[in-house]
Amino acid sequence: MYLSKFFIPITKDLPTEAKIKSHQLMLRAGMIKQSSAGIYSWLPLGFKVMKKIEQIVREEQNFIGAHEMLMPTIQSSEIWKESGRFDDYGEEMLRIKDRQGREMLYGPTNEELITDVFRSSVKSYKSLPQLLYHIQWKFRDEIRPRFGVMRCKEFYMKDAYSFDLSDEEAKKSYNKMFYSYLKTFNRLDLKAIPMVADTGPIGGDLSHEFVILAESGESKIYADKKIFEIDPTQYNFDDSSLQKMREDFTKIYAVTDEKYKKDNFNKLVKKENQIITKGIEVGHIFYFGNKYSKPMNCLIDDKDGKKTLVKMGSYGIGVSRLVGAIIEAKYNNEIMKWPKSISPFDVVIIPKVSKNNNENLEKAEKVYIQLKKQNIDVLLDDVDENMSNKFKKHDLIGVPYQIIIGAKSEGDNFEFKELNSKSEILSLEKIKLKLNR
Ligand code: ATP
Ligand code: MG
Repeated sequence: MYLSKFFIPITKDLPTEAKIKSHQLMLRAGMIKQSSAGIYSWLPLGFKVMKKIEQIVREEQNFIGAHEMLMPTIQSSEIWKESGRFDDYGEEMLRIKDRQGREMLYGPTNEELITDVFRSSVKSYKSLPQLLYHIQWKFRDEIRPRFGVMRCKEFYMKDAYSFDLSDEEAKKSYNKMFYSYLKTFNRLDLKAIPMVADTGPIGGDLSHEFVILAESGESKIYADKKIFEIDPTQYNFDDSSLQKMREDFTKIYAVTDEKYKKDNFNKLVKKENQIITKGIEVGHIFYFGNKYSKPMNCLIDDKDGKKTLVKMGSYGIGVSRLVGAIIEAKYNNEIMKWPKSISPFDVVIIPKVSKNNNENLEKAEKVYIQLKKQNIDVLLDDVDENMSNKFKKHDLIGVPYQIIIGAKSEGDNFEFKELNSKSEILSLEKIKLKLNR
């Protein structure tokens, strides 16, 4: 992609409405544009990052055997009346009427709709367990939308649903999701802590929030540093290893302020291991058994032919929130550096361009073609602008690697720089190797 042809409306002004770094940066780098309070258009740069995050989420859902589908954003109120949530959900639900006067709503979540899909086709235990998910826009009329994409009215979420015959089986599905979430956040280069969360009136201990550390987060967290030493990928993908993995994580102290007790924290966590900071919730998983299958009469035949209520869980990841959350976690010294796995481009070529000298630009174009042939996603900054402005711009965009074509690049050797570190002179072959790693 040639920068001069890309649509990337960078602004120099600091947006006054933006209180936190990620929001400021996303506006300045032209990643998003507010359309109305809590509702955004995703411009090409922001959209590219979000799609990469979505793809990692998808791959890790598929890995555990979940099946992707797509449910609509607009739902009928009927099923919500069956579950009792049409009245309970309150003002966060956006209610609308179609031309026949039928009550509809813009889905804030999909438990009812998926239960309806499931009950209409699955009748026997033989079809279980089942994991279904979709990645779709949600709408919640948040009372105070804020912090850019972190707390929106309209946001993009991956929500998965599990169906099992018994509590015991359902726990296995839960563990798979737990594992998938940790792997997903690892691939996004994030340190996410699974925290035991309240399950409300349903009871039980099966709910976890996945929180990443960031000063601007809305939840205060208290944790034992040891939680970061557990590597989820060291566990085998079988039921007993996954159960052990969840137990290993849950044994280590990690709570939000709702559950925090000073005495406990000091007793259970060594002073030097104590982490007290703020965090951003990026995922939430929940086992709720019969909560929806009972009022919605979602029954299956068990092994003895007896009708029994299916046991369900739901599992959400805030895909659009993650774009902002990753910036919050990674922003450093006025420089934004995307993790390689989700960077909008793999590398940017920055030639020193001037009106009366085309040499650098021509060199840059040759490098561009070579890298493209290797399937490397390259941005070429062909804009006629001084180098110091260019560098500022690329600190903002955050592509992790730069090839700088100016005085230091000679023949087949180029100045290569990883953001936030010193540059080195490397041959194009070596650069390709680095980028392909
Ligand atoms: P929160 O406690 O932050 O309000 P929630 O508990 O209401 O979130 P869930 O229903 O568990 O959220 O939704 C799953 C995920 O969707 C959350 O972990 C979060 O990452 C994301 N999410 C929820 N609400 C919003 C929002 N208003 N804007 C952006 N992302 C959101
Ligand atoms: Mg939550």
